[in-house]
Amino acid sequence: MPKPSPKTLSPRSPLVLDTRELPRRPGALRTVERVVPAPADLGLELIGVPEGADLSLNLRLESVSEGVLVSGTVSGPIEGECGRCLRPIRDSLAVKIQELYAYENSTTDETADEDEVGRMQGDLIDLEPVLRDAVVLTLPTNPLCRDDCPGLCPECGVHWDELPADHSHQQIDPRWAGLSQLTRQEE
Ligand SMILES: [Zn+2]
Ligand SMILES: [Zn+2]
Repeated sequence: MPKPSPKTLSPRSPLVLDTRELPRRPGALRTVERVVPAPADLGLELIGVPEGADLSLNLRLESVSEGVLVSGTVSGPIEGECGRCLRPIRDSLAVKIQELYAYENSTTDETADEDEVGRMQGDLIDLEPVLRDAVVLTLPTNPLCRDDCPGLCPECGVHWDELPADHSHQQIDPRWAGLSQLTRQEE
């Protein structure tokens, strides 16, 4: 079966790294420090990096015998909603990245599984898939505005922070209503 042809990378795309400046000699190093706009949908349903927000790339590109090892940190702001009270959350995140990108037609390219190592396209590296995985793994699936957020009163939907400690909706279960009448008569 022919390999599915990956999308053609553009060297001008913000999350594409161009390694033309990096000699293909094991040990050669280049650093990449730049701020790029975040792509759409970088994150989870309730929390993520807003599209277009500043993502800071602090990466090290190292030539190895079969490709380029990319390692470093990507950081940026995150915005979302508390899973308990829906209050907005604003925070920041920093994810560590380490991935080997094999040269086209290298032994690694030809023998390693599709998801085992990254692949280069000529001199280009697409950082986006690895960045997405790292961000998703770092973000909480159930984000909270603070660890002990008490959430909302299920009856009136008001945040417990804004309610008095003894707040309740004294509701008598209809099954017990008769009983409470009985108690009253006894008094
Ligand atoms: Zn909350
Ligand atoms: Zn209530």
